[in-house]
Amino acid sequence: MTLDAADLTALIGLCREQIEQHCERLGRLDSAIGDGDHGANMRRGLEAVYRERDAISALPLPVALERIGLVLVMSIGGAAGPLYGTLLMELGRGLATGEEEADFAAILAQAVAAVARRGRSGPGDKTLLDVLYPVQAEIAGHAAPLRIAECARNAAQATEMMLARRGRASYLGERSIGHEDPGASSCALLATTICQYFQEHAPS
Ligand code: ADP
Ligand code: MG
Repeated sequence: MTLDAADLTALIGLCREQIEQHCERLGRLDSAIGDGDHGANMRRGLEAVYRERDAISALPLPVALERIGLVLVMSIGGAAGPLYGTLLMELGRGLATGEEEADFAAILAQAVAAVARRGRSGPGDKTLLDVLYPVQAEIAGHAAPLRIAECARNAAQATEMMLARRGRASYLGERSIGHEDPGASSCALLATTICQYFQEHAPS
């Protein structure tokens, strides 16, 4: 489906609502292996985007995504801000330069690679990338939205058994094992929210 201004406004509203609802849980996950601010950071980010939703949604989609990325960088803070910001800005740039029938999976792959470069991290490091990689793979395989959502949730859960190699959690070494990564968790939450919207609004 194509994303028009009404879809984008709705998606921003849904993402903000879900982050608000799960803010405490994200904070608890970050308290276990970090400094406890991930829920508050994400809430600040989504609130900032929500405040600008009308102006953002009026922009062409590539520019809107770039703008969301910039707002996220400026508002989330912490380690997650530049990473989520990079993802959205690169998606916007990729869509802007893409051909008519731009392959979204390829653009997403480029954006995820940019996040990995930014964080100097890769698969299995126990970060939000451990959700982004499998989600990208499912999208490349043309999976249905609910299948992608399920994959995102499972991928976030799978970070529980990983040893953190990047970010604050890496300071804990072995003690980071046994806790879900907060960034992976927020990433799965947002991916799930977006997928559910696509499922409900898919052309029949
Ligand atoms: P901070 O760690 O600065 O307090 P947050 O708590 O908002 O920032 O975000 C923490 C999350 O950011 C982690 O759970 C992890 O998913 C992600 N993260 C941190 N550092 C990196 C990195 N170098 N590469 C990829 N993701 C990272
Ligand atoms: Mg933190």
